Amino acid sequence: MPVFDLRTLLPGKISFEEKDLMFHAGDLWPRKLLLQRQGQKLKLPKAVVRPETIEDIQTLLAWANKEKVALIPYGGGSGVCGGTQVLNDSISLDLRKLNHIQEMNEESFYVRAQAGILGPELENALNQKGFTLNHFPASFAISTLGGWISTRAAGQLSTGFGSIEDMLLALTVVLANGKILETKLTPRSSTGPSLTQLFLGSEGTLGVIVEATCQIHRLPQERDFLSFSFQNISEALSGIRTLLQKNIFPAVVRLYDEVDTQMALSEIGVEASGNLLVLVFQGEKEMVEAQKTVAKKLFSQKGKELGEKPARHWWEHRFDLNDKKMTQILSQEGMLLDTIEVATTWDRLELLYTEMKKAIESEITVLAHFSHFYLTGGSIYFTFVGSTEENKVLEKYDRVWDKAMEACLKVGGTISHHHGVGLLKKKWIQKELKEGWEILSQLKKEMDPNGILNPRKLL
Ligand SMILES: Cc1cc2nc3c(=O)[nH]c(=O)nc-3n(C[C@H](O)[C@H](O)[C@H](O)COP(=O)(O)OP(=O)(O)OC[C@H]3O[C@@H](n4cnc5c(N)ncnc54)[C@H](O)[C@@H]3O)c2cc1C
Repeated sequence: MPVFDLRTLLPGKISFEEKDLMFHAGDLWPRKLLLQRQGQKLKLPKAVVRPETIEDIQTLLAWANKEKVALIPYGGGSGVCGGTQVLNDSISLDLRKLNHIQEMNEESFYVRAQAGILGPELENALNQKGFTLNHFPASFAISTLGGWISTRAAGQLSTGFGSIEDMLLALTVVLANGKILETKLTPRSSTGPSLTQLFLGSEGTLGVIVEATCQIHRLPQERDFLSFSFQNISEALSGIRTLLQKNIFPAVVRLYDEVDTQMALSEIGVEASGNLLVLVFQGEKEMVEAQKTVAKKLFSQKGKELGEKPARHWWEHRFDLNDKKMTQILSQEGMLLDTIEVATTWDRLELLYTEMKKAIESEITVLAHFSHFYLTGGSIYFTFVGSTEENKVLEKYDRVWDKAMEACLKVGGTISHHHGVGLLKKKWIQKELKEGWEILSQLKKEMDPNGILNPRKLL
């Protein structure tokens, strides 16, 4: 592969340095970290390209089509499913230099920014003008706008303000053939299926997202907190459903199961058994007070009020469980850790929880919380953690995932609420999408006939 040609095509924008290649070998997929711990050599990209303009990306795509070389779009590299993992001879396309804000429209409440911008770069600029995106994945500090769109990410305030698909208004994408697709900036349109939405969750397989326009909100006037404990998870879920179905959507609603509750409460010295419910309200003062009053009345019927402290503590420490902590745990011999995020409708939500827990708890310690809620249902975020002999770690890791995914599909849940598919969930994607998988595969062939965009991921 004549990768060295790229030095003349994109002078100063290409790196062959070992440290760069290592960094771009993949993301934070725990299985990759386990393989690294066991001393397995990762496949490295042949080079890392850092485009500064759309024309740079077009040049690279033209070259890749000619040479039939794979390109892997790379945002923050915070994915946890192997979406950026190198499988064959590839170039890593690092988009971090495309990180400018092009427009902040204070009349129409939107921001237009380049896809490589990191969470804090975008949010700080908005805050300075009195605005916020209200999108806070736990990986906020290390993930990019383009990555959020490509994985259909969800942030901590999703119950109140929606996930990335609710925020996105328009996109600019460089297609595999080098053409530029710019979708129209409009609050809504009925000119056929939405091409903006097509790229949400496309995981770098259909085009390179270079720019996005998202709606923004004013910074809240008021923020308030409330916590409860419930002896019974059914009663807690039923209370949450009742609140949301009254059309009251607090910014944050998080319900921890008993094991997760003990983890959460042990840190703050609050003694309570059962299932912890954390609520955060934000917005105009009167709205916050009204929402809090209704929630308090409703949850006091079956739950025990714990005041502000647990919810406030969660808010203040909401980014503590970060990539560093995760990689530190996974660096210890014999340790296993990963998270599984699924979702379903209210009528099956508790069943999904009990069935998935039952499927894996004989293998490993499992804790869970419900953290993204809708009028129609919610998501469950399982964390599994444990240890075994080092030579059995991968086998056990794969077995836990197999059992969890089969149980999820059996109950009718979706195998991913917000982390995406990558390499991790490819094995089950056809079972979930059925005929839809054929349609997406055809689309991929049509849009990227040489298969240069992130091949063998997702599709
Ligand atoms: C500690 C931790 C906490 C996390 N918490 C959350 C959470 O709360 N919510 C959540 O949704 N996720 C969470 N994640 C997962 C991850 O952060 C998200 O999937 C995030 O959206 C990935 O963004 P990124 O910029 O790092 O993308 P990357 O990891 O770089 O890439 C992800 C995928 O998108 C593609 N891609 C990236 N940029 C582009 C682009 N511009 N154009 C086309 N394709 C592109 C890549 O090829 C890859 O397939 C967490 C991860 C960690 C490690």
